[in-house]
Amino acid sequence: MYEQVLHEFVQNPAEYRGQWREKMFGNDAPLHIELGTGRGRFITTMAAMHPQINYIGIELFPEVIVRVYQKKQQLQVTNLALICMDAANILEVFEDQEVDRIYLNFSDPWPKTKQADKRLTARPFLDKYRQILKRDGEIHFKTDNRDLFDFSLEMMEAAGWQLKNVTYDLCNSDFEGNVMTEYEEKFSQRGVPICRLEATPPT
Ligand code: SAM
Repeated sequence: MYEQVLHEFVQNPAEYRGQWREKMFGNDAPLHIELGTGRGRFITTMAAMHPQINYIGIELFPEVIVRVYQKKQQLQVTNLALICMDAANILEVFEDQEVDRIYLNFSDPWPKTKQADKRLTARPFLDKYRQILKRDGEIHFKTDNRDLFDFSLEMMEAAGWQLKNVTYDLCNSDFEGNVMTEYEEKFSQRGVPICRLEATPPT
């Protein structure tokens, strides 16, 4: 079924490198990206809530990102582009300091030590995020997985990222305006506390 809408995703994202604002969105607004959108409730809701921001959703699997496309169509948002690709390739798609914010929501935990480099907060990913983020850019990361959260805190601290608004229980924190993802809703309903942090790149 998803084959019919594959053309709706950005076909050659590398062609927009360094020019996402003007070439894709026709403006100079901030650029926020989400890596691993899943079914996309978060990014589509954010795009509808913040028409003054440009959003790009990135997801590995076409059969998953097609759900994001459906939500985008329902909400009729024009400030959201979708790319079906591996987040490991972001340097091919974004120029240095092109991105204002990166959202990582409920990233796959890859619990085995030998798979640690696949975690989206592993050092090789953090180094890429540092490159594409503006100096005052931010990562916003949420997860139900305490081990992944602790790993991420450790990685970010070791790499010199500045951490802020760190909470181990988002629901009972003073953070306002949370937009729930599909995974977040599932875990929150089971009473699992949600961890959240914001991080700015090392200077
Ligand atoms: N963010 C969504 C949420 O909170 O409901 C989905 C969370 S799900 C656990 C993780 C998603 O990240 C999956 O859809 C998976 O396919 C995607 N993903 C994992 N590794 C990825 C990668 N390297 N590049 C792009 N997407 C990835």
